Order: sequence, then C-alpha cells, then structure tokens
Amino acid sequence: MKIFAVGLNYASHNKEMERMFESKEPVLFMKPDTALLKDGKPFFLPDFSEDVQYETELVVRVCRLGKNIAEQFAHRYYDQVTVGIDFTARDLQKKQKELGLPWEIAKGFDQSAAVGAFLSKEEIGALQELNFRLDINGETVQQGNSREMIYSIDRIIAFISRFFTLKMGDLIFTGTPAGVGPVRINDHLQGFIEERKVLDFRVK
Ligand code: MG
Repeated sequence: MKIFAVGLNYASHNKEMERMFESKEPVLFMKPDTALLKDGKPFFLPDFSEDVQYETELVVRVCRLGKNIAEQFAHRYYDQVTVGIDFTARDLQKKQKELGLPWEIAKGFDQSAAVGAFLSKEEIGALQELNFRLDINGETVQQGNSREMIYSIDRIIAFISRFFTLKMGDLIFTGTPAGVGPVRINDHLQGFIEERKVLDFRVK
C-alpha cells in the first residue's frame, strides 16, 4: 500500500506558507505504510520535533489497478473518501527546505498519515464540492471545500499514474487549505465531511 500526498493544492494555504512559485503540475510526495494511523488510535507526539502541525485533507482510496490513467477516466479509480491529517514536523520541514534536502523525515514519520472512516462516493455525491473541517477540543480550527483545490482529484490521479502504478488500497492525501497549526498533548481531533464525523482521535 502506497500513500501519496499533494502539497500546495489550495491557494489559501500556499499564501500562508508564503509559497510564491507557481507549479504547473501537482507537487507530489509519499509517506511509507508505517505512517498510517487509523481506527481512532492516538497520535503520539514524536520527540524529534517542537512543532508538529496538523494539515486537514480529503483522502481518497484507490479501488483498482491503473497506470497512465486519463483524467476523464480517473473517477473510476477511486471509490471512497475520508478526512485525514497530514502530520508535519514543521520545524524539520523548514530546515530541510532551507538546505534543499528531501522532506521525508518531516512528513513521513510513523503515524504521520492519520485517516478517518471512509465513506463511499455514492454516499456523499460530488467529490469536488465537499466541505470538510477539523475541530480541536470542540473548536473548528480548519475548514475547506474541495472545489478550492488547484488540481482536482481526477487531475491528481492522472498525474500520479504517469509515474507510479496505482493499486487498490493506495491512499491519496489531496492537500490542505489555510489554517494549519500545531497539535499539543491531550488535544482531541475530530474531522468532518459536511456534518458527518469521520475522524476522531487524541494526541498523547
Ligand atoms: Mg499536506
């Protein structure tokens, strides 16, 4: 199982990251399968970072094998969606960026890919018009709508599959809107698609 993630896919987040460059293609990175955190299990704050941040994202699940998928057929290759957290060690990421080094230690560490319960596409309808949000300790800290994505889910699938064979069960984090911030011990994270709670876990 592979975990893909798209960076800088919402203009509002790019602004807060002071990211000025315009990429003509999705910015893609990966996390290992050991990054997966699911079933409401707690996230343990790692000791190598002073600034672990949440990035709330829609996550789609690949449902069939595919390579070089045309954008117009991409919708056939995913069937479920949930809210996930792309945990990011922001201090490490900043350092790696400054040095021009890869991001893996800041983005792919254990438990850095939290996912909620998956909903089927039939249950929720149009995937490019979904409201989603994260509440921490009962307060909404981040919200977005998938229509704000710079690269649509179909476009992302087409792009990824030029380079990587997609397999059933692969996950794709589709990018975060504005409002990222730190998590702290004892925080209670709850993620929603529209008004349905799909993600619920604590930081320890
Ligand atoms: Mg992200």
